[in-house]
Amino acid sequence: MVDNNKQYDCIVIGGGASGMMAAGTAVKNGKSVLLLERQNRLGAKLSITGGGRCNITNAERNTHKLLSKYGSAEKFLYSPFSQFGVDDTFTFFSSRGLPLIIQEENRAFPETENADDVVEVMKEYVNNENIKVKIATKVTELITEEGEIIGVIAGQEKYFASNFIIATGSFARTESDQDSNGISFLRMLGHTVRKPSPNIVPLKVKDAWVRNLSGTSLSSMRISFFLNGERNFSKTGELLFTHFGISGPLILNSSQRVSKLLENGSVTATVDAFPHTNLGQLDDHVLKVFGENQNKQLKNVLTKIAPEGIGKALTQLLGIPKEKRVNTVTIEERKEILTLLKALPMTIEELMGFDRAVIADGGVSLNEIDTATMRSNIYKNLYLTGDILDINRPSGGYSLQLAWTTGYVAGNSIA
Ligand SMILES: Cc1cc2nc3c(=O)[nH]c(=O)nc-3n(C[C@H](O)[C@H](O)[C@H](O)COP(=O)(O)OP(=O)(O)OC[C@H]3O[C@@H](n4cnc5c(N)ncnc54)[C@H](O)[C@@H]3O)c2cc1C
Repeated sequence: MVDNNKQYDCIVIGGGASGMMAAGTAVKNGKSVLLLERQNRLGAKLSITGGGRCNITNAERNTHKLLSKYGSAEKFLYSPFSQFGVDDTFTFFSSRGLPLIIQEENRAFPETENADDVVEVMKEYVNNENIKVKIATKVTELITEEGEIIGVIAGQEKYFASNFIIATGSFARTESDQDSNGISFLRMLGHTVRKPSPNIVPLKVKDAWVRNLSGTSLSSMRISFFLNGERNFSKTGELLFTHFGISGPLILNSSQRVSKLLENGSVTATVDAFPHTNLGQLDDHVLKVFGENQNKQLKNVLTKIAPEGIGKALTQLLGIPKEKRVNTVTIEERKEILTLLKALPMTIEELMGFDRAVIADGGVSLNEIDTATMRSNIYKNLYLTGDILDINRPSGGYSLQLAWTTGYVAGNSIA
């Protein structure tokens, strides 16, 4: 059945962060837009961002520093960010009643710290008489004619337009519905796609002591990763233990490097629970706690030496009988405790999958996109935005800023 509506000026596929920005911007100058979203609401992923608080952008005002976070895409992004940058994000949301606040590492959040408020602002932005929104409408095919895209198929319906914006996001946290994701459309259209893999993702760990600490979150932990036994890199930050392994900002931001290590051999890691204390100071600390608890059993004193979860880990890992009295612990045994406090060992099995990833590595090659407009160099009426692009970045608000920027630029290019 053919949609009886007039031919649209633009069809936006995907009602997420960048798709809503693109649709709302494209209706300037009276253009007509059809926004198609496969889920039964707009901005579903947006509503779970930042643990429900939505790290909406990163308030790094030095453009060079900001764009360097996007790795090899830095040069490509100068033009889009000059059209809609971090300041524009601040103005966009505050002028719509949602001021932003800046927290550690320049992470910006809505003042209300509620991601649903961000979704509401974006829904309001697409609430326009020139935008028709269709939810629960999954695009399964693009219609091409003589080398041009002329329409899309969604279920039994066909919709036609002069321009198309693909804003279908990445495989991260999708219902593994990879066939009808924009990536596969774009591959079929002849675009070069670097195979997506999970990124900003937790790590699966072999060791039972790690999984036994599930739910424990520890700040200021130093983790060092080893490839085939050789130290490769270290990072300090917040570490979260889960039922499958390790997560938290420290791990999420290490995952891309760990992924490269896993391609080259076996990867192990050690956790230093006292990264700012040297061995001598740590020994003094242990001796002091032992002195105060001389007649107690070791297992009851270990938790007083170290942060709660780590004490529990020591109980599982130490080769010493835990029932022995503290005043009978030998120097050698104390050394064993110190060694573990500075280097709790674990073996990394693999990265967790797309279902736990924040973003995906890979996507459509930037060589085939016009930097000033986000237009495809292959199809003159096709624009690409957001996560679908092959642009890597760490966590910290950089992903959503990319969505606002590219969405705005694509929408504005049509308007
Ligand atoms: C748990 C989690 C937390 C995150 N937290 C943050 C954060 O705090 N800060 C940050 O900067 N980034 C964060 N991100 C990343 C951020 O959410 C994404 O980078 C951003 O949403 C990308 O926007 P997008 O428009 O490209 O894609 P999305 O927002 O994913 O939108 C794509 C939309 O397209 C729809 N779609 C897909 N295929 C079709 C189809 N065939 N037909 C119709 N519709 C389709 C999807 O249903 C979806 O609604 C987080 C991601 C996750 C998973």
